[in-house]
Parts: sequence; C-alpha cells; structure tokens
Amino acid sequence: MRFVYCHNVKLTAVISCSINSFECARCRAYCKRFRNNLSFRMWGHSFFETASRLFHQRSSLSKIFIVVTVSGGGLATFHETKPVHTVYADSAQEAETSKKKKVVVLGTGWAGVSFLKNLRSSSYDVEVVSPKNYFMFTPLLPSVTCGTVEARSIVEPIRKITDKKGLDVEFREAECYRIDPKNKKVLCRSTQHSNLGLKEAEFSVDYDYLIVAMGAKTNTFNTPGVEQYAHFLKGIEDAVRIRQTVIDCFERASLPSVSEEEKKKLLSFVCVGGGPAGVEFAAELHDFVKEDLAKLYPSVIEYVKITVIEASDHILNMFDKRITSFAEGKFFRDGIDVKTGSLVVKLTDKEVSAKDRDTGKISNIPYGMVLWATGIGPRPEIIDFMKQIGQTNRRVLATDEWLRVEGCDSVYALGDCATVNQRRVVDDIVSIFQKADKDNSGTLSLEEFQEVMEDLMVRYPQLSLHLKSKHMRNIDELLENSWKNPKDEIDIETFKAALSQADSQMKNLPATAQVAAQQGAYLADCFNRMEECEKYPEGPLKFRDVGRHRFQPFRYKHFGMFAPLGGEQTAAHLPGDWVSIGHSTQWLWYSVYASKLVSWRTRVLVVSDWGRRSIFGRDSSRI
Ligand SMILES: Cc1cc2nc3c(=O)[nH]c(=O)nc-3n(C[C@H](O)[C@H](O)[C@H](O)COP(=O)(O)OP(=O)(O)OC[C@H]3O[C@@H](n4cnc5c(N)ncnc54)[C@H](O)[C@@H]3O)c2cc1C
Repeated sequence: MRFVYCHNVKLTAVISCSINSFECARCRAYCKRFRNNLSFRMWGHSFFETASRLFHQRSSLSKIFIVVTVSGGGLATFHETKPVHTVYADSAQEAETSKKKKVVVLGTGWAGVSFLKNLRSSSYDVEVVSPKNYFMFTPLLPSVTCGTVEARSIVEPIRKITDKKGLDVEFREAECYRIDPKNKKVLCRSTQHSNLGLKEAEFSVDYDYLIVAMGAKTNTFNTPGVEQYAHFLKGIEDAVRIRQTVIDCFERASLPSVSEEEKKKLLSFVCVGGGPAGVEFAAELHDFVKEDLAKLYPSVIEYVKITVIEASDHILNMFDKRITSFAEGKFFRDGIDVKTGSLVVKLTDKEVSAKDRDTGKISNIPYGMVLWATGIGPRPEIIDFMKQIGQTNRRVLATDEWLRVEGCDSVYALGDCATVNQRRVVDDIVSIFQKADKDNSGTLSLEEFQEVMEDLMVRYPQLSLHLKSKHMRNIDELLENSWKNPKDEIDIETFKAALSQADSQMKNLPATAQVAAQQGAYLADCFNRMEECEKYPEGPLKFRDVGRHRFQPFRYKHFGMFAPLGGEQTAAHLPGDWVSIGHSTQWLWYSVYASKLVSWRTRVLVVSDWGRRSIFGRDSSRI
C-alpha cells in the first residue's frame, strides 16, 4: 500500500487503482514511477536469488554469463560514457534571474568526480579544490607497482572531466587546510609552489554549499617507524616509488660485493595488512618476480621472499570464507608466507617486529621493502573540522542519511572521509508512535500501523533488512510475536517490541570506491532536483518534525567485490552470495574494470597495457 501526495495533500492509494484515475499530471507521473520502482525492486530481488541458485547448480552457466558480460561490457560502457549535456531548461532560465549558488567541492577522487560527472543543473557556480589535478582509478593502483599497467593509463585530467557544456566549473590545484563553517569559507594553499621554486600561495573560497570528498589517509596506528620506513599505496607517486624500490632491491642484491645475508634482506618484501590492497600487491609482486624478474636476475632469485602480515585470523576477512581459504591456499602454493594473528609493533630501518597474538612472542623480519596497507584514518583537516562542529567523540566525520554533516549547515561529506550515521528506530519510537496515532487514541489500529510502515521502511533501511533476514514477506508479520491479541489495537509496548530488533541490522558502509561513487551520484541528483523537491518533497515523513524530507535518503546498492590473487586468477563475491574464483573470473574482472574506467582514453591505454604485458612482459627499467 502506498499513498500519493500532491502539494502535500494525501490523495489516494496507488497500488490497486488505475494511473489514469489521477487528474493531476504530477500525481500520474509519481504513481507510474513508484510502480516501476516497486516492480523493478521485486524483479531484482527474485532475479538475483534465482540466478544465484542456477549458478550454484550449473557451473557451465557461469562461463556463459562471463562471455556475455565481457562482450556486453563494451556496449554498456559506450552507453555509460556518452557525455550527457542535458541541462534542465527551467533551472537555466531561473539561474539568469537569480544569483547562482556557489558549490565548493573538496577532492577529485571517486566521490568528488562522481558528483561532478552527474551534476547537470546549471543553477550552480562550482569550484573544485584538490591537490591532484587528475582523477585516479585506485583499483588498478596495485598493478602500477609492478608495471602491469602504466601510471598514466589510470589517470584522467580533472579539467577534461569537468569540461561539460552548460556548467560553470572552476578547478584550483590546491589543498584545503581549514574548513571555516561559521563564515562559510574554506582556506586553501597552493601545492605546485615547491616544484616551481615559488612562494606558497594562500587563498580562501566562500561557499553556499560545501561538498567534502577529501578521502582518508593510511592509518599507521602510531606504530613507531612506519612513517619513516614504510611505503604506502594511496597515490600514483606511491605506486611509482614502490616500482622503483623493487627494482633497486634487485639491482643492489646483484652487486658482487653484497653478502648472502644482505641479499636475503634486500629481497625480503613485507606487506603489512591482509586486506584487498595488501593481498593484491603481494600477488602482483609474486607474478612480476616469477614471470619477468626470474629471467633477468637468475643469480639472486632464490633469495626472494614475500611475507604478508595480518593481525586477524585470516587474510581477506571481509570476503566469503570460501574466498579466504582459496586465497590462503594459493599463497601457500606460491610460496608467499602468510603470518596471521601477528601484530606489527615496530619498524626500524632494517627489520619489521611483529608480535604473535597468542604467544606474545616477538619475531623480527629483515626487509628490503615494506608496504603498509592496514586501513584508513581521518585526515588532519577533517579532525580539525570535527572539533569545530562538536564531533569530538567520533573517529570519523558523521553525516545523516542525506549525507549532510551532523551539526553543520549546508555541508555534505561523502566517500572515505565520512560515515553515514544511521538513526536507530528505538531512539524515535515515541515520536513515530505519536505520528502514526492519527486519532490520538493512545493505540494504533492495524491500518494506522500499515500506513506508517511505508515511510518507516524508507527512513530506517534496517527494517527491510530485518524483514529479509527473518524471511518475512509482509510487514504485518513483524507484529506476530509481540501482538498477543490481534483483535486489540496496538499499544506502544507491542509497537516497540515489533520494531526494536531491526536496529541489530545496522551496518557501517565499507570504505570503497563503489560507496563513494554512489554517494557522489546520489548527491548530484539531489542538487539537480533541489528546487523541484523543495516544492514537492519526495522523502519519507519527518517523525520528529512536520512535513516530509525533501529527498529519499541515500541507499547503497552492493554490486560485489573482487580480489585478484595473481596467476590470472581472481575471486569475486557477488550479490546473491554467489562466489566465483579462478581464470574465468579474471576475465570478468578485466571486463568490469575496463568498463568502469573513467574515459575511452584510459580504457584504451589500460587494455593495451594488459596486451603489452602478455606479449612482452613487464618493463623492469628503473625510471
Ligand atoms: C590500492 C587501493 C586499491 C583499491 N581498490 C579498490 C577496489 O578494487 N574497489 C573499491 O571499491 N575500492 C577500492 N579501493 C578503495 C577506494 O579507492 C576508496 O574507497 C575511494 O578512493 C574513496 O573515494 P574518495 O573520493 O572518498 O577518496 P579518494 O578517492 O581518496 O579521493 C580523495 C580526494 O581528495 C583530495 N584531497 C586530499 N586532501 C585534500 C585537501 N586537503 N584538500 C582538497 N582535496 C584533498 C585527493 O587529492 C583526492 O583527489 C582501493 C584503494 C586503494 C588505496
């Protein structure tokens, strides 16, 4: 059951009646959109379940699927990347008469670029500030560390991306060092001055709306020696430096004066962190050594050792258990030493010290190169901003479900620099009950309950997850356990008991490109329809206030995760709990990543890099 609102007046239920019964065109469109959405969601849900079951039962089907995906990828990509120059006609006219709002975007990573690519309304003056004048495709960064893909193949100049007809976008290559929410401005300084031998330039930018998409930095957990001696893998410069260091280690170990012990140390490569980035780097390095360096440095190859140190019990622990055990087995066969349950406590210029979690014993591993890939933490500018707005008791900048920074006006935060702070149903239960109780009787009829549930499911996504986890088809089933006598009306205790368990389904979103890109696209869509939704709010009821929210809250759709494991094998954990591992999944990985690259230029470069690598091998020149 769903109700349609026209100018905030409830009209009628739309599930059972004809679309043409609406006199108002807006309501007819709304009704049609809602029905399409509903049927798409139902179709999507059952499709994934059926597909997953079929793939489990018939493995040949998965191969056919991959072939179709690979060939379909190109078409989908072509469609996706066609520049859309649609500019809302009425917004453009209004913009001429009224002053344009100034939108400042901090960062040109996944979140910032997704926002810019999807922004179509010409009602804004957009100013982008970032120390990098390019967008970087991070999933292929580990491939750059060993020369499988060249650095320039995975970056696209930001000015090319923002060069859209009809939009006012200015780019400033600078870093924001302070956000001043009281005066609605950001303070910035130049980043190119040291290269040019010039003085640092500082400037400030005023905003009406601020989009914070500054990403995060690698978390060192204040481990001594990490900042001085470890390599990180966050940017292109990091990947290029790692590639040079690997070659340096091999060249140094090949010098005649170097002792055997020194050779072992130089060719010991340690990766701290068994997450996707660390595992992918270890796998890439193993392939580089086996396929290319073994032929070029035959006298020292026997000294090469790759170690992965992970604090928890397994590597890739955010993946399905089948993937974890396959990866651990493959690394064992490849001779990659995986030390789980080990916590790195110190780094010196010579050794990594790791403490065994069970025995407390400390072991020292000599190294030639260490990669630190243990997760992320907030940037100093974000910590300073959090202090200013009173978010001192948090580890990450918190936003609400509309990506608005909590405790701050007109500031949005997305991607790795923020987390969506979902509201618990129990915190609002009294307000929800009062809103649902239209006749102020102190109890709810079944109808009143059903009517409020529609908005509740949108406002609190944990409710639909709860229904799904309990295999309930119908919201009425929520009441079954707590509603003693269905002839009675529902009192607040019954209501609370029915809904309170749903909060256990609340989960933080992962820090991935997928989340960041979806948040950028969502926010751009909100900005595109800001004026329309101001007049005709489309979000759920405000339970602690009057009226409706302007927009639907942000909802993340998970499309699966890949873990490349080397030797042309990849593991994929896809929706519907479908797990696929092996060579055929590697082709799926090639297809998906090629289609997700930001432009045709980068796509051609990356695909030709893959081809070049398979014909000529990786280049080991130290440049
Ligand atoms: C090696 C590696 C591999 C990965 N692989 C995958 C993968 O396969 N799949 C996946 O989903 N995710 C992957 N991720 C995670 C993914 O890259 C991040 O989740 C994603 O980049 C987050 O996007 P973001 O826009 O929040 O931050 P970023 O993409 O990090 O962008 C932050 C932007 O802010 C800018 N910035 C920084 N400081 C300032 C400042 N002071 N002022 C202004 N701008 C600033 C930066 O220059 C950058 O442009 C990987 C990450 C790494 C490091």
